[in-house]
Amino acid sequence: MERQDFLSFIEQADKFAVGIFRQFKIEERDNIVILIAPTEAYKRWAMEYIKSRVFNYGKRIEVRSAGEREKNEAYPSNLIEKYSFDNFVVGKANELVYKVCIEVAEYPGSSFNPLFIYGKVGLGKTHLLHAIGNRARDGGYKVIYSPITDFSDEMIAYLKKGQIEAFRNKYSSVDVLLLDDVQFLSGKERTQIELFRVFESIYSKDKQMVLVSDRHPKDLKDISDRLISRFESGLVIEIGLDDETKLSIIKQKLILYGMPLDQKVIDHIFENTGYNVREIEGAIKTLKVVGIKETPKKKSVKDINFVVEFTARHFKLKPEDLKKEGKERKIINARHIAMYLCKMVLGTSYAEISRYFGKKDHTSAIYSIRKVEEKIRQDRKFKYMMTFLERHLRKELEL
Ligand code: ADP
Ligand code: MG
Repeated sequence: MERQDFLSFIEQADKFAVGIFRQFKIEERDNIVILIAPTEAYKRWAMEYIKSRVFNYGKRIEVRSAGEREKNEAYPSNLIEKYSFDNFVVGKANELVYKVCIEVAEYPGSSFNPLFIYGKVGLGKTHLLHAIGNRARDGGYKVIYSPITDFSDEMIAYLKKGQIEAFRNKYSSVDVLLLDDVQFLSGKERTQIELFRVFESIYSKDKQMVLVSDRHPKDLKDISDRLISRFESGLVIEIGLDDETKLSIIKQKLILYGMPLDQKVIDHIFENTGYNVREIEGAIKTLKVVGIKETPKKKSVKDINFVVEFTARHFKLKPEDLKKEGKERKIINARHIAMYLCKMVLGTSYAEISRYFGKKDHTSAIYSIRKVEEKIRQDRKFKYMMTFLERHLRKELEL
């Protein structure tokens, strides 16, 4: 089913290309499609193909060759895959950092080196470090992510075994070294000495270092001056959070947790959390379990039926067509729109929508609804149509 998604999209646009793409192994996830090419030549072809078309698939598309994939997967990097650039919400206070991080991930060692990011807790520093790591790794670079305390513990373990050289080699041979929470270097003299060595070695080879801390290098305590001056020798940049970005994050997280975008809920979370995304996530999770008094009442299957009937009527289709997995683009589109309307107008949960449309996995409804949202953003005419549909549906439902 996943394989068909990307391929059917291509098939729409280009009957010839789909034949070639069929020879790829295709892995489709939340916000990324990975195309694994049988050979290097196929990889080059696919990269060229994607670059030369305006590609509105709605997900990031990555091309790898089969060999490259194995090489990367054999290398332990401690990266958490779910932290990506795609699911990082960008606003005024973190836009610059975000852009710099992408630049560093795509061209490690060539622009901002070292990159030093600082800011308060829960603002997405660790998220961005992993996002850099994941993208750089996908680009074929050798990456290690390590919180500084792990780096320190590991160093001591190697030291005890009398293998400090092996430790130095390990960290000096990467393309991208991502070190988290470097404020904890404070007072760890031997770790600082080893880090300095690693730093010099990486830097001399034009490899990339990214450091994260809860404060500016100048405000770090009990860390040697020579290390501080290295930290400051590239780009030092602060990450923050403003109201507008906070609002976007709340909305994105509500969707992610399968909750309706109810203004009361949004306001409640906004008012009861500070500038801390972890706290926002916590508040949403609590709300999901406990609820606030005015939680929207659960909609019945009867209402979903109505939305489907309404959508079918608009597209001159039969309601039964929308409930089945169809091959026709027109039917697939109408089906996605019906799902979207259930979410937006009725506040039906992803799980319920998926179940109703005959899918086991609730993420399938998320994909479909995201596609509609993407199109609303990109296509003005489509946006007008959706506004029209939503308004009329509400009227008919007397909402
Ligand atoms: P920090 O390392 O700065 O303390 P984290 O990176 O651990 O913060 O972020 C805390 C949580 O908030 C994580 O689950 C992360 O995915 C999420 N988060 C932070 N900033 C954003 C953002 N801008 N968009 C989406 N999620 C975010
Ligand atoms: Mg962190």
